[in-house]
Amino acid sequence: MRKTAFICDESYFWHDAGSAALVLPPGGYIQPDGSAESPDSKRRFKSLMEKSGLYDKLSLIKPYPATEDQLKYFHTGAHIENVKKLSASGGGDCGALAMVGNGSYEIALMAVGGAIAAVEAVVKGKCDNAYALTRPPGHHAVANMGMGYCIFNNAAIAALYARKELGLERVMVIDWDVHHGNGTEDAFYKDPSVLFVSIHQEKYFPAGRGEIEHIGEGEGKGTTVNIPLPAATGDAGYIYALEKVVKPVTDKFKPQLIIISAGQDANMFDPSARMMVTSEGYRKMTEIMRNLADTHCGGKLVALHEGGYSTAYVPFCCHAIVEEMSGIKTDVEDPFFPVYGTTPYNVLHDHQKARVDEVCAVHATA
Ligand code: ZN
Repeated sequence: MRKTAFICDESYFWHDAGSAALVLPPGGYIQPDGSAESPDSKRRFKSLMEKSGLYDKLSLIKPYPATEDQLKYFHTGAHIENVKKLSASGGGDCGALAMVGNGSYEIALMAVGGAIAAVEAVVKGKCDNAYALTRPPGHHAVANMGMGYCIFNNAAIAALYARKELGLERVMVIDWDVHHGNGTEDAFYKDPSVLFVSIHQEKYFPAGRGEIEHIGEGEGKGTTVNIPLPAATGDAGYIYALEKVVKPVTDKFKPQLIIISAGQDANMFDPSARMMVTSEGYRKMTEIMRNLADTHCGGKLVALHEGGYSTAYVPFCCHAIVEEMSGIKTDVEDPFFPVYGTTPYNVLHDHQKARVDEVCAVHATA
């Protein structure tokens, strides 16, 4: 059993992402509906942990708001001011499909602060590892604007905090959200001190990002790794990618801290993507990353919540991740798995293996 910290704040559930139909704003023939980026999947994850008893066995850490100086590790002053202004004047889009609600500036500061608090607790040895259930998510946010539900880039700022304020020399960010982690990639594309790995659905969101040949630039060449998987990849394809690409690049880089941008929207029921990962897949992926953290950084592993929009299924995926991080197995069995998780289609297909093998060739991990 490990001492796993859980970081959350009620305000995360109060961020108002506005009216939308899935991702698109209403208007014309799009009837107003709730945004897919609603608090429901996150709150239900926390509720499931409370019901199973897992929550009581975690080490609870209160987040604190990030400072503007910490935001400026990555973001421009103009973006910060724009978010602040929108938040104080009823809200609006702070970039590309990134809605700021009334008061969202303070909540977004608390989300970045939650990511920082998780890194601080793990690096300073207050716990073995940590899961931060932060909202709004962060990995699409670029330096000068928000994007795709993301206002500030929680993972990038947390990694930069570890570098600048805690003095770590090598930090790894692995982003397994189904969408490409473009903002985080931007932050470290020329930076050899942060290994950035993104596993995502190919040719999806944002357009033109996350291609295999995007491997970093200048001194950072080789420390960006993109693994674009074909639609309908499931547990076996993700695990193959982790074993064949992520493990060897991690062994070579030898991080002192591993941060997972943990978006569980590659789950098989998610409305925002077309992948087939089950809760058991996420459990195994977590086990692989936990073992890599044990090998290289004394177990220092931080998971930061990103996407995941199936309100029914995301809680079971996240619950499995926290069980695996903590080594605590409750009596929760994924009720969907026997029906949907055992479909004979959810295996490693030749075209999925071939794609991962292409990435191996580019990064010489074969
Ligand atoms: Zn996503």
